Amino acid sequence: MPRLLPEKFRLLGWISILLLTGFFFTILASYLSSRSYVRHSIAESALPLTSDNIYSEIQKDILRPIFISSLMAQDTFVRDWLLAGEQDSDRIVRYLKEVKTQYGMVSSSLVSEKTLNYYYGEGILKQVNEGEHRDTWYFRVRNMKEPYEINIDIDMANNDAMTIFINYRVLDYAGRFIGSTGVGVTLDTMGDLIDSYEERFRRVIYFTDGEGRIMLSGGAMRASRSRLHDMPGISALTGLILNRNVRPTQLSYEADNGRVLVNSRFIPELGWYLVVEQNEAGELRQAQQVLLINVGVALGITLFVLAVAWIAVRRYQDRLERLASHDSLTGSLNRQAFELVFSSFMREASRSKTPLSAVLFDVDHFKLINDRHGHLAGDDVLRKLAELVRTSLRQSDVVARWGGEEFMILLTDCSEEKAMALAETLRTVIANHEFGDDRVTVSMGVSAYRDGEDETVFFSRLDKAMYAAKAGGRNQVCRGEALTPDLSEQ
Ligand code: GH3
Ligand code: MG
Ligand code: MG
Repeated sequence: MPRLLPEKFRLLGWISILLLTGFFFTILASYLSSRSYVRHSIAESALPLTSDNIYSEIQKDILRPIFISSLMAQDTFVRDWLLAGEQDSDRIVRYLKEVKTQYGMVSSSLVSEKTLNYYYGEGILKQVNEGEHRDTWYFRVRNMKEPYEINIDIDMANNDAMTIFINYRVLDYAGRFIGSTGVGVTLDTMGDLIDSYEERFRRVIYFTDGEGRIMLSGGAMRASRSRLHDMPGISALTGLILNRNVRPTQLSYEADNGRVLVNSRFIPELGWYLVVEQNEAGELRQAQQVLLINVGVALGITLFVLAVAWIAVRRYQDRLERLASHDSLTGSLNRQAFELVFSSFMREASRSKTPLSAVLFDVDHFKLINDRHGHLAGDDVLRKLAELVRTSLRQSDVVARWGGEEFMILLTDCSEEKAMALAETLRTVIANHEFGDDRVTVSMGVSAYRDGEDETVFFSRLDKAMYAAKAGGRNQVCRGEALTPDLSEQ
């Protein structure tokens, strides 16, 4: 606070600093704690829960077909039928149809290594051909080391739904490759789950393969061509995501519109990674609204307290000022305050070359009033006298209690002549006024201030004029200069 500011502004300044600092820290603390709670709950529960649910949905969708495909590949009927030269294809067709309908698969098939015939629930579809794009999967399965593969494709026969084919290697009893069994399932239930998470919680959910290619993403569960490496923000985390860790990994990155929390995990059944992202901005919005409301309330309270403090300080100060500058008995200015006022009026008068006059008067035989009626009655007379003087003057004229029962009147823009006339009028008014049972008279000294005159000299001229009026018989007005009594009334 600059030292020049008046005390009351410093007080208000300190009040605001105290309140605002207090509010600032409590609001900040509560915002930070709710933000960290939101982050914590997204990272530690919301995203892992989503990931767990999707994962268990995948397991439900995939484990069963893997198991069924495996059973088909191990089935002695299938193997014996292949080894026996694929006699009576109706038998295998019926078998495939049963598997499909009994287990609710989208498709079930068998390809023979010997004849390259593609059997399915309705008969022989075709012969697979190494040059045919759609058949490359078979030749891949034939050469692979793993017992099965999971192949995801758009199934044109099923509304372009993403379909997962599980292709199992069929081996003879000596472990030689003799064909491949396959079943197909759609990811319908998982797709619905992902859609609902994406919509309800504004999460982004997708799968990448081991190289970070986006294999499936939410919405319509479509494959996209992009790679993690090319996606802004998350690209830096690619190495951390593709870690073959089946336990969820918690990560985050800064996007344009806020921090994004990421949960990723490896899904061994698919050889893919499931990535769930959520921008915390949406979740933080409520905390931010509360923050704004708190800031508003804090400012409101601060302003209110400042206003109350301002009013209280103003009142207190006004009272102090009045106490310091006014005489408590008569309500007129006291002598110290009068001298201050006089100095400034004096400067103003010499600057503007306007006349400034003063009247000093003393109550005649005031002791007698005190003696006769007591000191309190004397006080009452002084109070009424001051009131009478004030009401007889202009608003701009200043009345001060100069001493015990002496008063000084300062008349701005008033020549000595006018001051004489005014004093005379005032003297008459006082003399004719009834103060209880008493009549009160005053003796007055009048003078105009002479430019450049020392104020003590001016006051002593007034004093002399007043004493001249006393000496002249009291209840009269005397001019300061002449020091001769004005006898017009006598
Ligand atoms: P004069 O001025 O006409 O010569 O006679 P005086 O009786 O007024 O004499 P002087 O001015 O010397 O006395 C003033 C008296 O006024 C003395 C004092 O007791 C009284 N007085 C001064 N201040 C107060 C006051 O506040 N209240 C009361 N009741 N009396 C006061
Ligand atoms: Mg007197
Ligand atoms: Mg006196």
